Amino acid sequence: MNTAEICVAGLKPRAPKGIELLINTHHHGDHTGGNKAFRPVVKHIVCQEQCLVWHKKVSEQANNVADQAFADVTFGGSWSATFGDEKIWAHYFGPGHTSGDAVIFFERANIVHGGDLLFRRVHPRIDGPAGASAVNWIKVLDRVLKDHASADTMFVFGHGAENNVKGAKADVVFFRDYLTAAVDHVRKGRSAHQSKDEITKVASLKGFESVVAFTPRLSLEGALASIYDELSK
Ligand SMILES: [Zn+2]
Repeated sequence: MNTAEICVAGLKPRAPKGIELLINTHHHGDHTGGNKAFRPVVKHIVCQEQCLVWHKKVSEQANNVADQAFADVTFGGSWSATFGDEKIWAHYFGPGHTSGDAVIFFERANIVHGGDLLFRRVHPRIDGPAGASAVNWIKVLDRVLKDHASADTMFVFGHGAENNVKGAKADVVFFRDYLTAAVDHVRKGRSAHQSKDEITKVASLKGFESVVAFTPRLSLEGALASIYDELSK
C-alpha cells in the first residue's frame, strides 16, 4: 500500500458512505498524486480549469497518465458547495505558484487552505513553465488577506518549516512581504545591470534570514531565478 492507500483505508470506517469531495489546489504531483487512491471513495474531484489542463499535460509528458485520477468538476473563477451548515468556496485569483491555483475557504470554520500559494518560512517554488507569476502572487495574497482573513482565521499552508503547515494571518503577511522583497531585490539588480548569477546567488534577503530551503528547487536561488526569468519576459 502507498501512503494515500493507507489514508483511504483509515478513512473508510469514518466515512462509510464515501467522501463527497476531493479538492486539488493545483496540479503538482505532491498534491494530486493521491487522487487515484482516493478515486474509489470520493464522489467528485474538483479543481480550477487550468489545474486540470496542467495535470493532464505534465502526466502525459512524464508518461504516467495511468497513475492519475483527474478532476471531474472544474471551475474558472469560483466554485462553492454547502454541506450541512458549512459553506466551502474555491476561488481563482490569477497566476501565483502556477496558473491554476485555487484558494479554499471554509466559511463557518474560518479556515483558509491556500495550497502552495502559501509557503510557511520555506523558500517557494515559482513554477514559471506552468504559468506562475511572483508579481501577481503578491496581489493574490493581498486579496486573500483583505477579503478573507480575520484575526482568528486559520491558514493551511502547502509546505512549512519543521513540517508545520498551520499558520495565522501574520504568517501569510510574512510570506507576502517575503515575495515582495524577492521581487524588489531582482528589480533592483536588473536596474543596476547585475548578471543573473549576481542577483540570484545571495545568502538571504534582509529581514527574511530565517526562511529555509527544502531542496535545491525550493531555495532562495531557485525563487530568485524564477522571478528573474519572469521579469525578463
Ligand atoms: Zn506545488
